Amino acid sequence: MEKKVNPATNTVWAGEKAYRVHGASQVPIVNSVTYNYDDLDLWYQVALGNEKGHIYGRNTNPTLAAFEDKIRDLEGAEAATSFSTGMAAISAAMHTFLRPGDRVVSIKDTYGGTNRIFNEFLPKLDIVVTLCETGDHDGLEAEISKGCKIVHLETPTNPTVKITDIERIAKTAKANNALLVVDNTFATPILQNPLDLGADLVIHSATKFLGGHADALGGAVCGSRDLVGQVFHYREINGATMDPFGAYMMLRGMKTLDLRVWKQTENAGRIAEFLSGHPAVSEVFYPGFPDHPNHEIAKRQMKGFGGIFSFSLYGGMETVKKVLPRLEYANRAANLGAVETTVGPAYTTSHVESTSEELKALGIAESLVRYSAGIEKFEDLKADLESALQILND
Ligand SMILES: *Cc1c(COP(=O)(O)O)cnc(C)c1O
Repeated sequence: MEKKVNPATNTVWAGEKAYRVHGASQVPIVNSVTYNYDDLDLWYQVALGNEKGHIYGRNTNPTLAAFEDKIRDLEGAEAATSFSTGMAAISAAMHTFLRPGDRVVSIKDTYGGTNRIFNEFLPKLDIVVTLCETGDHDGLEAEISKGCKIVHLETPTNPTVKITDIERIAKTAKANNALLVVDNTFATPILQNPLDLGADLVIHSATKFLGGHADALGGAVCGSRDLVGQVFHYREINGATMDPFGAYMMLRGMKTLDLRVWKQTENAGRIAEFLSGHPAVSEVFYPGFPDHPNHEIAKRQMKGFGGIFSFSLYGGMETVKKVLPRLEYANRAANLGAVETTVGPAYTTSHVESTSEELKALGIAESLVRYSAGIEKFEDLKADLESALQILND
């Protein structure tokens, strides 16, 4: 029986013991592509999946398996499988279950790459995609009730941090025989466990918070043994396999996941609060604010409000171009969830794939800035922003 252990302990210990060899205290990077079998009968049984073992690196690898066990444990899933990137994970999950003529229901505010799969690639395969207004639960339920194969959610969303009620949509999806897939990249398993709320599959861009250091790409899909087994089969054949070194970087990064996420959540909340009182700032979106339209849902389904918010400055893009370059303790980069504070306008980061018409339709101001809080000291981040904003008075 699995013991119920706190996430802070699991981030450090989960999934690793079985893979440590020669008494090593850390999981090794196994770069070997192939595995030797003197016993040909055993080789055959492993190939058939009747015995444990590894055959070939595209299919399975011990370092990847340790990463998969750790994220599986943190999401409370029966099974997990890994990918070279988050997009590979999302793409594989879609292609595993969808057939021509099927329908997908999702929200307008998904990650830019996901949005491209919905608007560009799935329609080519004669798969119908309906994207609903993010946060409009009635609209979403009405579309799901018309019949669909997959409901895909992302919550909180990029970049305006809108929240969708996972438990409510899970019930509707179930009643209509649809699979509910939730991209949990923004919340991380520390703050939100979609499987506990009724989701069928959870997806991560491990590149972001899980790795946490902006130095390795990766993705994961978690869920039941049956569903994840099907996604794994798609991946082992189509080949978007994670690199063993990348898996090691994920394992190393995830040991501090709990520490980092709580610190980033604290920093984001306090910086968002500071900016919302600043005269140069026209709006701040953060689900932790009581006046955020989805605050009550966030409070119910998340343990914390997360490390990301977005804000706009009076004067639009002109002002943003003046202020952002002056920040000393922030990377201006297309990333989030790293230990360094990372800022960037939505149109250069999450929605670089979207046209300006599409951005307008999404209600994303060109000058909206996404702020992914790092683990720096709050006082330093605040002083940095204060002095950068000072240029508007000079
Ligand atoms: C970054 C991101 C992805 C894509 O992940 P990659 O690892 O860059 O392929 C998917 N979903 C969300 C919410 C993301 O932030």
